[in-house]
Amino acid sequence: MPLDTIDNAIIPGSLYGISEEPTYSGVLSFMRRKYTKDLREADVAVSGVPLDLMVTHRSGTRFGPAAIRKASAHLAWAPPWPWPFDPFERLAVIDYGDCLFDPGRPETITEAIADHARRIVAADVFMLTLGGDHYVTYPLLKAHAETFGTLSLVHFDAHSDTWEEEEKRVDHGTMFYHALKEGLVDPATSIQIGIRTTNDSTHGVKISQAPEVMHSSAKETAQAIKATVGNTPVYLTFDIDCLDPAYAPGTGTPVPGGLTSLKALEILRNLAGLYYVGMDLVEVCPAYDVSDITALAGATIAAEMLCLLAVHREPVS
Ligand code: MN
Ligand code: MN
Repeated sequence: MPLDTIDNAIIPGSLYGISEEPTYSGVLSFMRRKYTKDLREADVAVSGVPLDLMVTHRSGTRFGPAAIRKASAHLAWAPPWPWPFDPFERLAVIDYGDCLFDPGRPETITEAIADHARRIVAADVFMLTLGGDHYVTYPLLKAHAETFGTLSLVHFDAHSDTWEEEEKRVDHGTMFYHALKEGLVDPATSIQIGIRTTNDSTHGVKISQAPEVMHSSAKETAQAIKATVGNTPVYLTFDIDCLDPAYAPGTGTPVPGGLTSLKALEILRNLAGLYYVGMDLVEVCPAYDVSDITALAGATIAAEMLCLLAVHREPVS
């Protein structure tokens, strides 16, 4: 193999197709996609939001995007199993790099993330975001709702993240309360999957708690999700702590009794056909990870999300 055929993340060439290079070396973009700020030819922009200032317990998710990218290189040699297609023959997916914000001026962070999202959404490019703590979803919802109107939230998590408070603070456990209150999200068409922490108010959001999810088939859970959101615009957010700590120890607020990675992946595989407008995978915290299993679970779920976008598209010749 000539030396200049690897590092497809940075060499000129097509945005399409699987990258043939070692799974362990080189410039570790998400799934070996091209690193570029050029949105013109892109269908999907994967970007990181390395924020960990809004957590209530262990911090360190600022290193999540880098860890997920590194783990994803290990997945990039073949099309994601068990889909009968290669998403990268159907979608031009780029790695847009990370969102820039100033941790020394926390009051500016929400708008910095929203502006990052607005740039991508305004270019008519689909966003798949890698967190970062879960607060990042709040500015992402803001930017998406400006274009798509009130959104339906499909939310995988151990926590509802709708804890109510009188004053608006920035926190990764309250942002969906504010998103609901501000009309960014419609509770009637939103659903939370895998919840196993106490919150006295659902705020009208349908909840499928972790035991119910584990005792139901993936198809049944997916059917409940589809029935809830219908054909409304959907924002899909996956907090990696939805998975049991046995499958995802590398996260800030782990809660035992969660989903297996198989269960979560099977539910996702049954969620093709929704009107997705944005997606994210958050709360991977590599400092608490073991053998990169949480980063790998995150990368696998993010790759699965791309397949959900690609399933109804034709290959680009
Ligand atoms: Mn969360
Ligand atoms: Mn959580």
